[in-house]
Amino acid sequence: MSSSDEQYDVVVVGARCAGAPLATLLAREGFEVCLVEKAELPSDTPSTHVFEADALAFLDSLGVLDELRATGAPMIARADARVGDVRWPATWPVRPGDPGGVMSVRRFRLDPVLVRAAQDAGAALLTRTAVTDLVRAEDGRVTGVRVSTATGDGESRSGTGTAPRGGAGEERVLRARLVVGADGRASTVARLAGARSYHVTPNQFALFWSYFADAEIGDPTFVFHRWADRVVLGLPTDDGLYQVQVGVDPARLREFRAGLPGSLLEYARASEPVAKALAGARLVGEPHGTTHWKGYFREPTGPGWVLVGDAGHFKDPTAGRGIGDAFLQAARLAETVTGQLGGGGGDAAELDEALRRWGAWRDAEFVEPYWFATDIGSLAPLPAVLPEVLRGMRRAGVADGLFEMVNHRARPTDILTRPRLLAAVGRLLARGRLGVLREVVQLAAVDRHRRALGRRPQYEAPSLPR
Ligand SMILES: Cc1cc2nc3c(=O)[nH]c(=O)nc-3n(C[C@H](O)[C@H](O)[C@H](O)COP(=O)(O)OP(=O)(O)OC[C@H]3O[C@@H](n4cnc5c(N)ncnc54)[C@H](O)[C@@H]3O)c2cc1C
Repeated sequence: MSSSDEQYDVVVVGARCAGAPLATLLAREGFEVCLVEKAELPSDTPSTHVFEADALAFLDSLGVLDELRATGAPMIARADARVGDVRWPATWPVRPGDPGGVMSVRRFRLDPVLVRAAQDAGAALLTRTAVTDLVRAEDGRVTGVRVSTATGDGESRSGTGTAPRGGAGEERVLRARLVVGADGRASTVARLAGARSYHVTPNQFALFWSYFADAEIGDPTFVFHRWADRVVLGLPTDDGLYQVQVGVDPARLREFRAGLPGSLLEYARASEPVAKALAGARLVGEPHGTTHWKGYFREPTGPGWVLVGDAGHFKDPTAGRGIGDAFLQAARLAETVTGQLGGGGGDAAELDEALRRWGAWRDAEFVEPYWFATDIGSLAPLPAVLPEVLRGMRRAGVADGLFEMVNHRARPTDILTRPRLLAAVGRLLARGRLGVLREVVQLAAVDRHRRALGRRPQYEAPSLPR
């Protein structure tokens, strides 16, 4: 180790939904944490920004909810839900003590609130500073990162401790007992560590979204409509704006793009409540779009490193779960790291084993929602059995329970239970819908395939040798 190297307990690469809360929680436990971010902050990132009851409870526990409320984003308690031909007004399920059901805050507002919490907790923050390499011990263990600072001073710190040294354009080494890759889908840490991806699924719909002023918001409601070849979401976000998001079949992409913004409006207005909200509204700014991505899990950890948030796992955004899942992972990872590195602990083998268990938890926790998000984001027509299950749940007065899945408080198999599925198939058959039998056979085959993948993942080759 050179005398100019800086030493931390934990270096967290990436300062948004996964990295910033993790840094906050670890710094609050008294660890020396450095949060490294290549972007300038505050800045936007190509993502919509709906999060749900579990995420709101987490943000409350972090102590940042008042700042988020101050952005003007309302707490949303209602949903206008449509799945296939079943539409119903839902009350978003919450638990006692939850601050609310759904919120949407644009990322250039949300992420800085999270970063400020990390700084207030005492974490060092390096912005405009990219991790360019991993530093390894002779046995290959990751013991730090090499960083390069773009321009300007890029550094800020509150709390106590040693301020980072170095200036613009300079390369330096940050040593740590643990390096966390919270650096998103194109994770440098994952690439340099050689983490392989598995359960890889390319997207099907492309996503476009826009903001509108002067929308008729009324009782704040999250419109979630998925029917035929359409996905339309609409809800109030911060600053009095109304956010609209649509899924577009890539076969229509050229035409859709050429027709923007009118094509987006036309798509959105196919959903009756969104059309109503937009009746007197005006578009603000240019529409945003993302046309290509992949869902995946990545090998979560290795000696001295771990991946959290999108760096380790990404799923179809139609499910609106990336932010909440990043929080869930960060909270659990902070507990694991604290248990290992706290109180003078620091046995490397024990840390690696604890992180391996954390990784196994991540996969078990998110695999069902992952496949469900893949299905919701699929261009294939929704299986008839899904709306039929919801019709049955509506009759039983429990359809709002669907959103417990979106709160990550129920698994898809808790909602799409065997008795509900069998009853739905029976009703469809009684109505002469014999095609449901073929559908059930196909669904069972897909399920078997996914279970087999769970036992024996198919890996994509990493882009660098391990
Ligand atoms: C189109 C779209 C819509 C979405 N909509 C929603 C939604 O409505 N609700 C929801 O919950 N989720 C949504 N998501 C998912 C959500 O955006 C992510 O799950 C979430 O941003 C994950 O946060 P993260 O901190 O892991 O990664 P990111 O937010 O990607 O942050 C990673 C950070 O790492 C930094 N970084 C990268 N490389 C380096 C490096 N070498 N050195 C230093 N820093 C580096 C980047 O600059 C970035 O700031 C959507 C995603 C997409 C693509």
